[in-house]
Amino acid sequence: MLESVRCNLCGADDTVHVAEIDGFHIVKCRQCGLVYVNPRYRQQQLQEIYTEEYYDHDGINNGLEFFGYSNYVDDEENIKTTFAKRLNTIERYATKGRLLDVGCATGFFLDLARSNGWEVIGSEVSEFSARYARQTLGLDVRLGTLKQLSFEDQAFDVVTMWDVIEHVPDPLGELREVWRILRDGGVLSIITPDVGSLVARLLGSRWEEFRRVREHVYFFSRRTMCETLRRAGFRVLKTEYADKVFYLGPAMHRLKYYMLDGVLTQAATAGVYKLGLDKMRLNINPFTKMAVYACKE
Ligand SMILES: [Zn+2]
Repeated sequence: MLESVRCNLCGADDTVHVAEIDGFHIVKCRQCGLVYVNPRYRQQQLQEIYTEEYYDHDGINNGLEFFGYSNYVDDEENIKTTFAKRLNTIERYATKGRLLDVGCATGFFLDLARSNGWEVIGSEVSEFSARYARQTLGLDVRLGTLKQLSFEDQAFDVVTMWDVIEHVPDPLGELREVWRILRDGGVLSIITPDVGSLVARLLGSRWEEFRRVREHVYFFSRRTMCETLRRAGFRVLKTEYADKVFYLGPAMHRLKYYMLDGVLTQAATAGVYKLGLDKMRLNINPFTKMAVYACKE
């Protein structure tokens, strides 16, 4: 069952068509430029996809659509290397104290921040990953949406939302809630795909983030992200492109989803595995996701 929504940033109902993927329409607000899926699944259905399968499958449905992760748990080392750099940036802006990771998945970032001296709490809508974080890593992870959990006013020094804001049904409302639970001067860190990036504009409807229409409902540019933050009461401290560490092998496999499935790509992928280079670690900045750091004013 689908629902139609107005623009989350400016409230207008005035859009142009951007792309159609698996029957879903991605539109752009003509008033403020926010890009979103409309109509879309209702919140309950949006939440129901985050099962164990979401964190461990081949990322492909109907031969085209991306969702979830190919094997999130096995990728722990790479994920933590990526996260360590982000924590470093946060620590330049924030005093060490209480940290909430919204949509903390299996808790890898919380685990890292805890060992760096932070007092950490996670929130998660996926029962599978919340259980993993509690049982395997012994973390305090609460099951539910941020609003359902209703933390106290000014409860945290830092809130992180990585690869989350594009999934939530009401991003402006969510950021206002983050504002409420952050202390004055507290820091918010967001990572989200950048619909204004060159990669997104060149790939159009082939852009991986668009293909995840079952889970992504909003696509921010730097401008619409900064404007949403400002409306929620934040001051933007820094924006940059988010880099990522991953293994060469799985990265080669992904190339074929960008229509690069030629003989050369196949031969190169086979060669990488044959030479044992598939576990070679690369730190790559694909210039497709933005990292935004903001503080509560
Ligand atoms: Zn708008």
